[in-house]
Amino acid sequence: MAQPLFPVFADLRGRPVLVVGGGTVALRKATALREAGALVRVGAPELNAELAALADTGEIEHLPGRFAPHWLDDVWLAVAATDDEDVNRAVAEEGQARRLWVNVVDDARASSVQIPARVDRGPLQVAISSSGTAPMLARHLRETLESQLDASLGDLAELLGRERDRIRTRFPQINARRRFFDRLLRGRVPALLRRRQRLAAEHEFSAQLSADASSARGSVALVGAGPGDPGLLTLRALRVLNEADVILHDRLVSSEVLQLVRRDAQRIEVGKQAGNHHATQDQIHALMLEHARAGKRVVRLKGGDPFVFGRGGEELEVLRAHGIDFEVVPGITAALACAAYAGVPLTHREHAQSVRLVTAHCKQSQDTLDWQALALERQTLAVYMGVAGLEGFSARLIEHGRAPSTPFAIVENGSRANQRVVTGALADLADLARVHAVQSPALLIVGEVASFANTLHWFGDAPLGAPAPAVAEAA
Ligand code: SAH
Repeated sequence: MAQPLFPVFADLRGRPVLVVGGGTVALRKATALREAGALVRVGAPELNAELAALADTGEIEHLPGRFAPHWLDDVWLAVAATDDEDVNRAVAEEGQARRLWVNVVDDARASSVQIPARVDRGPLQVAISSSGTAPMLARHLRETLESQLDASLGDLAELLGRERDRIRTRFPQINARRRFFDRLLRGRVPALLRRRQRLAAEHEFSAQLSADASSARGSVALVGAGPGDPGLLTLRALRVLNEADVILHDRLVSSEVLQLVRRDAQRIEVGKQAGNHHATQDQIHALMLEHARAGKRVVRLKGGDPFVFGRGGEELEVLRAHGIDFEVVPGITAALACAAYAGVPLTHREHAQSVRLVTAHCKQSQDTLDWQALALERQTLAVYMGVAGLEGFSARLIEHGRAPSTPFAIVENGSRANQRVVTGALADLADLARVHAVQSPALLIVGEVASFANTLHWFGDAPLGAPAPAVAEAA
């Protein structure tokens, strides 16, 4: 087994460091070293334009010519970043002889120190090393962490640094201090910093510092889970899911998305069946309040986007009325996802200048629609609806003047592994849906653009009801 390396974070402020090489790799290393406050000397016969500019302004010192051992005089660390293996080795050997730490870029064996892959959040640095065995793995992990660690963590580190003395004075005992940090880091201060409300974060910090331990406050994040494909979650949604204590999720949220939730979070399905909307909605409100009041970080996870036919507005009104802190993380709504995954551009310069998002889940909601407006040409309708209402829907559109030949596309289970698309003409909508036994969840797209699904489809199977291909496929 490879010997693991010992990690250290070096204080290079005001200390001379040598970089050998004058190209882009040398530039990258010189820049990173300068950011850590090192006095950087760059040795090379010639410098590239950026390095030359730094040398001109005195931000680095240029040592001209080929590597000479005296370049190592007084330095604390050396980085060999040339594309000449012999030069790199000479730097490494001479450095070893002087008991200097030397990094040879991309050559773990010749190096006595390695520069780790890192995630940089101001004073907060996450460094990753595979001890030279699998640099690509370290890089992969870095990318994962990069997407998971919020940009505001640097601000949080700065705030904690500034307040360090106050925290120690308030909680001289280590255990009490730990508990305080635990509450603090799960609480509103990081959330406020993420929202870029720095002043409010500082006030909240002070309030928490003087409050007693039992007053932890919960919060609710209203999060859009998108249509099903976990790749369509936002980074913000992923982070919030990682931090949640309790998840209240709809039936529409896919199991792939639920797998990304923090392992020890409590999951509660609050799925609604058509018909008993109101009773359940009150229960959802009660659950959100109960858990938030218990100091938990609650995620209210909804299919698609929480503000598109998701009753997100009502839920926030309840939270507001009860003084519970909340945030909203948008999701990719079914109309956008289904259109994209079916190859249907919702607008098109020649066919549709506007899009309407319409809901028509039950007969009652269909009765209140403005059919005159819905039947207008040159617009796309994206209809969130139960499959049962399809027949009435197409009939009424035609009744109000939309051409019976207008194309439609039904996208069932959009973006999921079992996605199906059915296309045809408006007059045949109900028949085709029946023939292909379309199931919920399904989104109906009506308008000239819908026929693009026949040519631009790229995900899953070709649309059902599409014209037969011109050339028969070999059996
Ligand atoms: N807030 C959700 C919509 C909730 S209403 C959003 O923004 O997407 C529920 C309706 O959304 C379903 O009846 C169906 O019409 C549509 N829908 C949601 N997810 C879908 C999916 N993966 N494929 C097709 N339709 C979907």
